[in-house]
Amino acid sequence: MIPFAGSPLNRASEKRTDANWIESKRRDPSSLVLPLWRLEPFLLGSEKSGPPIELGLLRPGIADSLAGAEAAWVFLGLDGDRAVFALDVSQAADPGNVGALAGLGYFRDARMAASMVSLKDAAIIGQAKALIDWHQRHGFCPRCGAPTTTMDAGYRRLCGKCNAEHFPRVDPVVIMLATEGEACLVGRGKQFPSGMFSALAGFVEPGETIEEAVRRELMEEASVRIGEVTYYATQPWPFPSSLMIGCFAKAESRDVKADENELAEVRWVERRVARELIEGKQVDGLRVPPPIAIAHHLIRTWALGEK
Ligand SMILES: [Zn+2]
Repeated sequence: MIPFAGSPLNRASEKRTDANWIESKRRDPSSLVLPLWRLEPFLLGSEKSGPPIELGLLRPGIADSLAGAEAAWVFLGLDGDRAVFALDVSQAADPGNVGALAGLGYFRDARMAASMVSLKDAAIIGQAKALIDWHQRHGFCPRCGAPTTTMDAGYRRLCGKCNAEHFPRVDPVVIMLATEGEACLVGRGKQFPSGMFSALAGFVEPGETIEEAVRRELMEEASVRIGEVTYYATQPWPFPSSLMIGCFAKAESRDVKADENELAEVRWVERRVARELIEGKQVDGLRVPPPIAIAHHLIRTWALGEK
């Protein structure tokens, strides 16, 4: 399973427009709320506790005491009969140390938190983070500039002036492992930590298919000509709202040249080296992303000969 996929919640989207039902669940003491403080989800326990780390799902009353009246909240779905919400508590100065949450747990950057909890909880973090982040950035109508208000339990914003409707967006990104015989192509972005190499990636542009985006990005970033493109899997990536579309791409040759504006370096890596890299080893000063990233799963699948 790829992290951020596989949510255990039933999204129950038909309930979002039932304002009475949503309101009763918001007040129901058996419901659960995940607080996010400045987009960091809440985790139970102390920063010193070891795994497994539990997601900080709280009773509505506790969480609500931290949020301002205008705080964004979202209905994430149902766990059995129990409703689960996300709530923005960014207004609170230091909720991990002061107030109702003090001593219960701590807030952690969403990417880090997702790698500490179970895969099911990571998927809840992904949904919550992407939606609260979207609300934080869409307080004003992109069409006329007037304030927007939340509708449908957090899945729509409505402009109070021109009535334009705005929906949470997902931005498609292609991430592809180019292969040629017994080697795959990895690159080091200019902003990457030293030694970190990954599959190449880029946003799908308007008017473009996934396959066209894969071919264009590999040509732009590495001057590699691509034949067959095959789909592997997707990963929701809530930073802030991407859907990573993982593909394999057959290169026509190993001729390669890094685009200096985007990449510090590109390298062909032999399959036997790739097998060591996915075990977390560093080989020739080179390492690859951990399992939180779909790039790891692309490299693993190819290295193990499953593709
Ligand atoms: Zn408007």
